[in-house]
Amino acid sequence: MAFEGLSDRLQDTIKKIKGKGKVTEQDVKEMTREVRLALLEADVNFKVVKDFVKRIRERAVGQEVMDSLTPGQQVIKVVKEELTELMGGDESRIAVAKRPPTVIMMVGLQGAGKTTTTGKLANLLRKNYNRQPLLAAADVYRPAAIQQLETLGKQLGMPVHSEGTEADPVDIAKNAIAKAKEEHNDYVIIDTAGRLHVDEGLMGELERIKDEVQPDEIFLVVDAMTGQDAVNVAQSFDDQLDITGVLLTKLDGDTRGGAALSIRAVTGKPIKFAGMGEKLDQLEAFHPERMASRILG
Ligand code: GDP
Repeated sequence: MAFEGLSDRLQDTIKKIKGKGKVTEQDVKEMTREVRLALLEADVNFKVVKDFVKRIRERAVGQEVMDSLTPGQQVIKVVKEELTELMGGDESRIAVAKRPPTVIMMVGLQGAGKTTTTGKLANLLRKNYNRQPLLAAADVYRPAAIQQLETLGKQLGMPVHSEGTEADPVDIAKNAIAKAKEEHNDYVIIDTAGRLHVDEGLMGELERIKDEVQPDEIFLVVDAMTGQDAVNVAQSFDDQLDITGVLLTKLDGDTRGGAALSIRAVTGKPIKFAGMGEKLDQLEAFHPERMASRILG
């Protein structure tokens, strides 16, 4: 499971301070030093760690903790609040267009889990919100992607709009939206092409799709297992496309968790959902507070 190492280390640190009737500046110093190391080891962005530790130190050395009746517990509360804040609020809402269909554009690097997550998100929209999505296969460079999306559509019993690998992805997206209007599908989820790395060609194409279809959401799918790279990728996509949210995949793996803890702080964009496995029902709303509780035990 994700965050195991971080969780163990932070829990050890917390244990030391938990029962303390009095917390000295020295105690806080030691604790924050350990927190800092634990976060760095979990691959959290260096600057994010620095700011985080500074805030905890300020609050923990302040009156809030020193003068409280249960200083040890109060320190833990501060750490939990800051950890929650770091990951953002509960923002797993999805836009609803004034006039349907609502258009969601899925972007991300190849292998991040974009196509799978497109299917998962469609499943979640139907199950939790009673929506009727149509999927659009606009990844024309990886032929298997179209087939993969069609297979997902069959499994879900949902329509998939595809035009093969020769068509222009912009046209595919536009035609999918037109079809959704005709067929009364209230969401269109566009699976776009990925590349192994961020490159200009890819970004240019994604910008073109964005300009033409004006999506209500642009969700970046990132692989939590890629650590710091996930954060860099998120930053690049956000700079180019002004994404509206992040869907973090593979949180079921033994990721150290750095991506989940850094992306919000670095890009300012919320993590909306987390992939917890390969199956279609394994996409969950990302709740920072619950995640912080899980990490701190
Ligand atoms: P794409 O190239 O971005 O479209 O990636 P795919 O959707 O083809 O996914 C790449 C691989 O990641 C596939 O084997 C998926 O089953 C797997 N995958 C996607 N999301 C998750 C997840 O949340 N957990 C796990 N364990 N595997 C995932």
